[in-house]
Amino acid sequence: PNRVTATSPLVKRRIDTIGPYSPLFYRKPLEIVSAQGVWMVDSKHRRYLDAYNNVPHVGHSNPRVREAVTKALSEVNVNSRYITRKPIEYAERLLSFFPDELDRMFFVNSGSEANELALRIASQSTHHTGVLISDFSYHGNTTALARLTTGLEVAEDFAPYARAIRIPDVPQCSSDGQADEIVAQALRSVDEAIASLNDEGYGVSCLLIDPSFSTEGMPYPSAAYIQGLVERVHAAGGLYIADEVQSGFGRMGSTMWGFEQYAPEPDLVTMGKPMGNGLPIGAVVLPNGRLEEFASRNQYFNTFATSAVPCAAASAVLDEMRDNDLRTQSFEVGTRLNAALAQLQDRHQCIRSVRGSGLYIAVEVSDDSDAPGDFAGRICEHMKDHGVLHGRVGRLDNVLKVRPPLVFTDEHAALLVAALDQVLDEVEG
Ligand code: PMP
Repeated sequence: PNRVTATSPLVKRRIDTIGPYSPLFYRKPLEIVSAQGVWMVDSKHRRYLDAYNNVPHVGHSNPRVREAVTKALSEVNVNSRYITRKPIEYAERLLSFFPDELDRMFFVNSGSEANELALRIASQSTHHTGVLISDFSYHGNTTALARLTTGLEVAEDFAPYARAIRIPDVPQCSSDGQADEIVAQALRSVDEAIASLNDEGYGVSCLLIDPSFSTEGMPYPSAAYIQGLVERVHAAGGLYIADEVQSGFGRMGSTMWGFEQYAPEPDLVTMGKPMGNGLPIGAVVLPNGRLEEFASRNQYFNTFATSAVPCAAASAVLDEMRDNDLRTQSFEVGTRLNAALAQLQDRHQCIRSVRGSGLYIAVEVSDDSDAPGDFAGRICEHMKDHGVLHGRVGRLDNVLKVRPPLVFTDEHAALLVAALDQVLDEVEG
């Protein structure tokens, strides 16, 4: 793993306490002292446009979230073995965003906890242990999830009961015929993966995917592929788990959940990151039958989950989304931003593709060298110097990831596009 170097006395103190391995963005990491809406301010009073962070979903320091949390903190915040109103009210609201069959939920504290629990439920429910995940993905930091991780470095051996399948990127195809062939070929690999799990006696307990395929570099596999994939998993007796940690809560614009971008409904849904706008809260949503079955054999207890303060934050997030119509904003601003970024392709050969949905946009870049990741890294650093923050993902680390808080407007989008235009002039030399 990359080591952080001591670029300031504060970074040195961090290294001297938590070590040099906990990752930081940028060669000279930013010390952020305040943040509001889509703006972050560093210790030198410099303001940065946040086009990256999805945890402050309804904006940094959102006043409604702050007030809800402050009020809840001064009322009651006890552990989950007492009845308090907020978690119940929140659960009713959250479940109203799901198809009728997905009518129960577990509260947890993070995306990792949600996926860990979903894996347990799936394997107990199906009596199988095999897992299908997408190649170069990340679903969390528990031991079980580390054994399924291919998208970042972990010491754990990849689980013998798991198969990583390559997600096709269909829009890059030159014709419908080529797209059909790529989907058919990708589905043949799924058949092979399932056959090998069956041959080795694991069977298929679940398919665990992030519908935005974020870590993978945001390929768009097409609805036909996802349909075929889920059909095969179901035919093998497995469950489809949609990990909405990245793609959920209107991130992808037109839909509340990433899985809705494709046809099949999931059997289990997990979520975290944006749910509490910065307070730790996550969930597993599932049908009552599966909850009954799991709960009849397991007492699942989670001290902090189901407490009032994170639920107050999560409720305020839904209030803000409703009152400011942030899903529409995500869709409309995102669509226009996507088009504006695609237009930059006329001026900059290095942009290979622009894809995405809502305020979740991938800009794939390459300078034709053997190290497109280094090129993308230079772009990120220059963008920071121009006051705009975004990330990068993908197997080659060359996909610029634009994923701002949903309060991002056209005005912010224009700043981002202008900065990228200028930065590409600089780095293309
Ligand atoms: N699933 C996905 C798709 C993620 O991107 C992440 C975090 N990046 C997680 C799960 C884990 O979430 P957390 O860090 O909150 O445990």
